[in-house]
Amino acid sequence: MLDKAPNGKVSDLLNALDKGLSAGEVEHAVDLFQTDCYWRDLVTFTWNIKTMEGKEQVRDMLKARLADTKPSNWKIADGEDASEADGITESWIQFETEVARGFGHMRLRDGRIWTLLTTMSELKGHEEAVGFDRPMGAKHGAERNRTTWKEDREAEAAELGYSRQPYCVIVGGGQGGIALAARLRQLDVPTIIIEKNERPGDSWRKRYKSLCLHDPVWYDHLPYLPFPRNWPVFSPKDKIGDWLEMYTKVMEINYWGSTECKKASYDEKSREWTVVVQRDGKEIVLKPKQLVLATGMSAKPSMPKFEGMDIFKGDQHHSSQHPGPDKYKNKKAVVIGSNNSAHDICAALWEAGADVTMVQRSTTHIVRSDSLMELGLASLYSEQAVQSGMTTAKADLIFASLPYKILHEFQIPVYNAIRERDADFYKRLEKAGFLLDYGDDDSGLFMKYLRRGSGYYIDVGASELIANGSIKLKSGVDVKKLTEHTVILSDGTELPADLVVYATGYGSMNGWAADLISREVANKVGKVWGLGSNTTKDPGPWEGEQRNMWKPTQQEALWFHGGNLHQSRHYSQFLSLQLKARMEGIATPVYGLQEVHHLS
Ligand SMILES: Cc1cc2nc3c(=O)[nH]c(=O)nc-3n(C[C@H](O)[C@H](O)[C@H](O)COP(=O)(O)OP(=O)(O)OC[C@H]3O[C@@H](n4cnc5c(N)ncnc54)[C@H](O)[C@@H]3O)c2cc1C
Repeated sequence: MLDKAPNGKVSDLLNALDKGLSAGEVEHAVDLFQTDCYWRDLVTFTWNIKTMEGKEQVRDMLKARLADTKPSNWKIADGEDASEADGITESWIQFETEVARGFGHMRLRDGRIWTLLTTMSELKGHEEAVGFDRPMGAKHGAERNRTTWKEDREAEAAELGYSRQPYCVIVGGGQGGIALAARLRQLDVPTIIIEKNERPGDSWRKRYKSLCLHDPVWYDHLPYLPFPRNWPVFSPKDKIGDWLEMYTKVMEINYWGSTECKKASYDEKSREWTVVVQRDGKEIVLKPKQLVLATGMSAKPSMPKFEGMDIFKGDQHHSSQHPGPDKYKNKKAVVIGSNNSAHDICAALWEAGADVTMVQRSTTHIVRSDSLMELGLASLYSEQAVQSGMTTAKADLIFASLPYKILHEFQIPVYNAIRERDADFYKRLEKAGFLLDYGDDDSGLFMKYLRRGSGYYIDVGASELIANGSIKLKSGVDVKKLTEHTVILSDGTELPADLVVYATGYGSMNGWAADLISREVANKVGKVWGLGSNTTKDPGPWEGEQRNMWKPTQQEALWFHGGNLHQSRHYSQFLSLQLKARMEGIATPVYGLQEVHHLS
């Protein structure tokens, strides 16, 4: 039999899928899938972020959703060609539903669908005004009492939240809130960001002074406005702060700085939030239909409680409050913790001439930044990737097309290669007493990030200081108590200290819901983040997607948004479309709303 070219194989399959789905023949469509298939849907069929794993789940979803999704026009995406390697045929695809246009990715194995990604690009009739449809800006002609762009913006700022209510309130104006608000602005969804800091970017500016982004520039672009080509690989924190401030302005975001959200409650009858904020010393009550908490997954400090903290005479603070090393020259510093913040802070204190000891309780995953960039990210997010034609949008979608259930299988070989390449480095760290791990199943940094959002350090220099003893290390111990001038460890060691930094991480984002709304609502939505992988700090059962992020929660009209810059960029698209659809009264029946298994 003649082997078909990749385009032919994909087109045949898509035609069969189109035919089966258009005719409502679920079994016919399910037959086109492999037994161990994965269909990841970002909002098109499920109005949810959901992965169907295996034919049974695909069948169930189609039975529930096919009739009103009405998908059609499945084809290889315009301008794209399918490709083939190692027995897998893959292709970019496009399709439509009754209300939206979709874009996606498909991998075929043995002529059947192995992975399918379907994502919503735009809602029909509610497209963003871009390209040929971009706004005119100027109003040509002559008109009495015409207003300028500036006057219109000022009028909007004066009325929104006062005489006119926003449809959506986003609490938290870090990169997450800002990216989402930019998308909502393009979709004409009246939105206000509430931010307790004065200026956009302050959440970065206020972190410890030596901080630079740990992720490289190709991974970090914001929607619509990529960094220029001369932007540094690793943005210093104040520079990214300035970029966010500029972005907020040029994207015309309604940003209420120096404004704190005090409390919020939802009226199930009127389906409206009451959000109480403090602005310029005045209480203002907002009445949005949708409330997004973009309050940061690395923003709710987990502060340990140790005996003697109340009598300790030196400085002590959580890493998020660490001012930087300047006043600690020649002082004795003890840093509790061994992840990113702990390493960065230890290194900065050492550079400033402090005597630093890191206290490591349990193992940490370390990956050298250049190894991560070259072996972990380069194929999608690097200058080489850009040169070979990879766009940020495609990189994000390829990444999204790898099902979480098997993502670790793709990651394990990467981290095996890193371990081999950096064997010497790891040996020296262990010799210094550092307790290493590579993730519960050796799948490394990214899986740890997705599962628990902690437990690692991307090495940009501090590890060498640990290996050579410049940063002292006490590992395999916990803090027993503090005295007026020392920290006493569980093995009896007494460390003199002028400064104690608790680099002990951050709590689940539903803690914000408890603070701002109620414990009842926080429990109703449950733990935020993690996949249910049944690995350390990510208890099962398996969820298949990140808990509660960017998708409907058990609390109607309450959403969580955030994550790193890549996730904020990518998932803000799908959250903004979910919000827009609701505002326009488009039916959004949610398929497979997640159940709650853990409260925090
Ligand atoms: C040391 C460190 C290094 C990191 N490095 C990277 C990196 O390299 N790349 C990356 O992408 N991410 C990195 N992260 C993760 C980083 O925290 C997040 O990417 C980023 O801060 C998340 O943005 P966000 O908008 O979700 O939250 P945040 O930036 O934390 O913003 C949340 C905002 O909510 C505001 N807020 C909270 N409560 C209220 C309230 N009641 N009223 C009004 N405002 C409120 C806060 O003031 C804050 O500005 C790092 C984090 C840390 C701690």
